[in-house]
Amino acid sequence: MINLCNTACLNPPHTFFMLAFFGFGMLIGSFLNVCIYRMPKGESLAFPASHCPQCQTALHFYDNIPVLSYLFLRGKCRFCKAPISEQYPLVELLTGLLFMLTVLRFGFSLSVPVYATLQAILIVAIFVDAAHMIIPDKITIPGIIIGFLASFLPRHPVSWQNSLLGILVAGGFLYLVAVLSVVILKKEGMGGGDIKLAAAIGAFLGWQRSFLAVMLGAFLGSVVGIALILIRRKGRKEYIPFGPFLACGAIISLYWGNELIDWYLSFFR
Ligand SMILES: [Zn+2]
Repeated sequence: MINLCNTACLNPPHTFFMLAFFGFGMLIGSFLNVCIYRMPKGESLAFPASHCPQCQTALHFYDNIPVLSYLFLRGKCRFCKAPISEQYPLVELLTGLLFMLTVLRFGFSLSVPVYATLQAILIVAIFVDAAHMIIPDKITIPGIIIGFLASFLPRHPVSWQNSLLGILVAGGFLYLVAVLSVVILKKEGMGGGDIKLAAAIGAFLGWQRSFLAVMLGAFLGSVVGIALILIRRKGRKEYIPFGPFLACGAIISLYWGNELIDWYLSFFR
């Protein structure tokens, strides 16, 4: 049985803090929606203020409350009644849940803001890559730097040596896959964005858990890819972005990576 609250967390956080992190996560999720929507277009994150993409009317602050505004407006713009994508409340809810899970799993430590940052990057990567088949440098490059710098924090579980090794192992492995697929398969199988995202995951998680994230991502991607071909939603030659699977692999590895690695290694003892 996997223990959700690790041994370092002797006093499980109070319900109040859990809910506070959930609410804070939803607010961050609201900002991530802006990143997801504007970054691929190269637009500023700060200006203009939130507006309806259909009628361009600026939103009141009370139409911008995570999830609740969506429910209250029944998924439609207050002014022009254009439908609001359900991706907005989904991202807010997902971010809130993951932030709550982070404090539940890692207790009150400096690792909580670090891992929250990693997950914010992963959420943006998932939704941008799924829609546009790109992963913005604006999230991966700062991710590599923040992940590495965080390894110098006191009692952070990943040493700076391991963080550096993570960048090289996870990023290097995908770089190798990219080179080999061009040489052997004569097609581009891995984008530069995937390589940089893997390097960022490596910086945050260290080489063991980031390598596991890549393996989990490849496994999830194959399962979904085969399923899509079987139900004929995709042709055999169509491209399925790897970023969302890699990001999901990283989230699994963040929470349960050490247990999964121990379980795997137990077969060889
Ligand atoms: Zn509108």
